[in-house]
Amino acid sequence: MAGDGLQELRDELGRITLEILRLAARRREISEKIGELKERMGMSLLDRAAEARLRARVLEECRRLGLGEELGMRLLNILVEDSLEAQRKAGGDEFAYRKIFVKAAEMLRRGEKIIRMEVGEPDFGAPPSVIEAMCQAARQGYAKYSSGQGLGELREAIASKTSEKLGVDLRGENVVITVGGVMATYLSIEALTRPGDEVVVVEPGWPLYKPQARLHGRRVVEAVARMEDGWSPIEALEKVVGEATRLIVINYPNNPTGKVLTRDEMEEILELAERYDAWVVSDEVYLDYIYDGEAVSVLQFSYPKTVLIGSFSKAWGMTGYRIGYLITGSEEAGRMAHIQNLIITNLPEFIQKAALKALEEDEAVKRNVEEIRRRLETLCSELGRSRAIEFQRPQGAMYVFPRIKAQLDSVEFAWKLLEEKKVAVAPGASFGQSFRSYFRVSAGRPVEELREGARRIVEALEESVG
Ligand code: PMP
Repeated sequence: MAGDGLQELRDELGRITLEILRLAARRREISEKIGELKERMGMSLLDRAAEARLRARVLEECRRLGLGEELGMRLLNILVEDSLEAQRKAGGDEFAYRKIFVKAAEMLRRGEKIIRMEVGEPDFGAPPSVIEAMCQAARQGYAKYSSGQGLGELREAIASKTSEKLGVDLRGENVVITVGGVMATYLSIEALTRPGDEVVVVEPGWPLYKPQARLHGRRVVEAVARMEDGWSPIEALEKVVGEATRLIVINYPNNPTGKVLTRDEMEEILELAERYDAWVVSDEVYLDYIYDGEAVSVLQFSYPKTVLIGSFSKAWGMTGYRIGYLITGSEEAGRMAHIQNLIITNLPEFIQKAALKALEEDEAVKRNVEEIRRRLETLCSELGRSRAIEFQRPQGAMYVFPRIKAQLDSVEFAWKLLEEKKVAVAPGASFGQSFRSYFRVSAGRPVEELREGARRIVEALEESVG
C-alpha cells in the first residue's frame, strides 16, 4: 500500500516537472516576440529596470511560498538567460574571430603569404634559457603525476615575485598554476559561482569569458564601455552591477582597447563589488605591457574577494607552453586546484620548471615589452593615415582597436581584407555586439610586416568607404 502512495507522488512530481517545462517553452515563445518588438523599436535587449521589478516580485513570492530566496533568484536567472538567448540574433559573432583565424592559418598552409594581425600571439618564443630548462627537467624525469595546484617551488616563486612587485604579502598557498590564463578564468567562475548566478563582464573584452560562464549555466550581463569615455568601464559597471551580481570580470591592460586602469578606477570597481559582496576576477595577463600609466593590480587593495589572473604566454612569449596562474585566498585556491585536478590531474612538471626559469628572465620581458611598444607606435602612425577610422592610442597590452567611421560591418570588412589584401584582423563583434564597427589589430608580428599590413588596411578602407 505504502508503495502505491509513493508511485502516485512520483507521478505527480513528473506531471509538475513537465508542466514547468511547458511553461518555460511558453515563456520562451513570448520572449521571442518581445525580442522582435524590441528590434523593430530599436531597443536594447537588456532591461535592468524590468528585470529588477520581476526580481522583487519573485523574492516576495518566494517568501510567501516559504521557498528559499536563493533558489528563486537562480531559477529566475536561468529563465532570463534563456529569454535573452531567444532574443539574441542567431549567428554567434563572438566566434567570427575564430573563423578568420582558422581561414588565415589554412591560407598560410596553402602557401599564400598572409599577414596575420588577428591573433594575440607574440612571434617571439620563450627565452633560450627557458627552453633549455624545460629539456633538462624532462631529461631529469620531472614528468610524473603531481599536484593539481602546481609545484610548490613555482607557487612560492610566483608568490614572492608578485609580493615584491606589488608590495603585498602572498604565500605559495595563494597560488594555483593553471593551463594558461584561460583555465584560470574558467576555474574562478566555476569555483566562485553556481549555475544561475550572475556574472558581469566588461566589454569590449576577451571573447572567452562569456562562453566560459555560460558553459555551466551562469547568467552573463555585459557592462559596455565606450571609446568616448576613454574606455573607462566605471559608468557601464555602475549601470549593471547590482544585488544579483556574484562576480565581475575585468581585464586591464585591456584586450582589445589597450586601456590601462587608474588607481582610482580600480578603487571604484572594488567599492562597487563590495557594496554587493561580489567577487572581482582581474585578468592581468598584460600587466607588464604598459606604455602610459602605471601598473595597477587588484591585489594592491584591501578588498579580499579577488582573483588575479596571470600568464606566461604574453610577457615571455610562451603561448604554446600553456601555463598561467591565479592568485586568491588560500581556501578558494584549494577549491580551484581541486577542479583543475579533476580535469587534467596536473600540469606537466617540466613545463612548470621552464616557467620557474622564466621568472629569472626579467631582461627578456623588458625586451619583449619594448619591442611591442615600438610596433604599436608604428601601427598607430600607419593606421593614423586613414580618415575612415578613429582609435585611442593603446596605453598597454598589444593591440590597436580602431572604429570604422562609415557604415561598414567589421565582419564583412575582415573577410574582404583577408581575401583581397591577404591581411587577417579580428572583427570587433567578437569583443561584444556593440563593437560591430570596430576591428582589432595585433602587434604580434615583426615591425616591417605590421607596417605593410597597416598600409593594406588603410588601402582597403579607402576602397571600401572612400
Ligand atoms: N586573458 C586575455 C585578456 C587574453 O588576451 C588571453 C589570450 N589572448 C588570455 C587571457 C589567455 O591566455 P593564455 O591562456 O595563453 O594564458
